[in-house]
Amino acid sequence: MITQPDISVVIPVYNEENNLFLLYERLVNTLQGLAVSFELLFVNDGSQDGSAAILQQFAQKDARVKFIDFSRNFGHQIAVSAGIDHAQGGAIAIIDADLQDPPELIADLYRKMQEGFEVVYARRNARKGETWFKKWTAKMFYRLLSRITTINIPIDTGDFRIIHRKVADVLKNMPERHKYIRGQIAWIGFNQTYVMYDRNERHAGKTGYTLGKMARFALDGITAFSDFPLKIVSYFGLLVSVFAFLMTLYALYGRYILKDYVQGWTSLIISVLFIGGIQMIGIGIIGEYLSRMNADTRRRPLYIVRDSNIAPPSPPDES
Ligand code: UDP
Ligand code: MG
Repeated sequence: MITQPDISVVIPVYNEENNLFLLYERLVNTLQGLAVSFELLFVNDGSQDGSAAILQQFAQKDARVKFIDFSRNFGHQIAVSAGIDHAQGGAIAIIDADLQDPPELIADLYRKMQEGFEVVYARRNARKGETWFKKWTAKMFYRLLSRITTINIPIDTGDFRIIHRKVADVLKNMPERHKYIRGQIAWIGFNQTYVMYDRNERHAGKTGYTLGKMARFALDGITAFSDFPLKIVSYFGLLVSVFAFLMTLYALYGRYILKDYVQGWTSLIISVLFIGGIQMIGIGIIGEYLSRMNADTRRRPLYIVRDSNIAPPSPPDES
């Protein structure tokens, strides 16, 4: 019989060897200060540095440390999902390993939860040490997303938060492959609130979120929670069709009534290119949705565990 800790802390780790010791120390101090029982659940997402060895070392010294070692890099959202799948706690905190999210804030999140909330997320006041490009794209993206979705995904919020067991159990039954966890949690509902905080600079190392990963993540968020891009394509198609119809009338009028026509290469090439472009964009957007449906129908396991000290491993998927 496994006793359920009060809090599980889920920490996705990708090449964080120089952050783990300080992170561990600050987490343990915070949680001991709260006087709760806890487990620290590290998910090593295919790190190429010494992170895995450090986690093994923690686990040997401290029975409260659990780790899951992926067979390769599956991505941040999947690492967090795996952590939630295996977490035993009555409450589950999610925090980055790079100390951008202050571990001490977990105490505030937990206390707020005791007031009767199932989700307490940490909302960013200031973002230190990130490029203007990252801050600007993040800001624009969150605002765009909140305009085109019907659910209320909180603005300026990452995955740093605490969730109740009830929320985790629902999340575990949402099998989509392209995860956008903060959107899923917003969709689930319950009583949600937030605590403000200042986001720090990364303690050491560099970001694991490349531009490509960021773009894919943004597309996952949009396609999972909005059909707006598909609608835009339809509206645009309609607009272009109306325009094309008027042009046809005009062309026929010129040809047969006025009998005044020229070779017309310019208008021809412009309209062909224009309509061609619109069609390509349309097909591309449909393709984005289709490829995600395709990934969901394949029903591959979401992640593969190479090694873990959690027994028995509960499979994330029923397939
Ligand atoms: N991370 C991960 N897999 C990845 C990329 C990142 O598990 O493929 C982890 C990383 O170790 C960190 C968290 O996800 O704990 C956030 O990543 P990062 O700090 O690189 O992103 P940023 O803060 O720059 O958006
Ligand atoms: Mg970071």
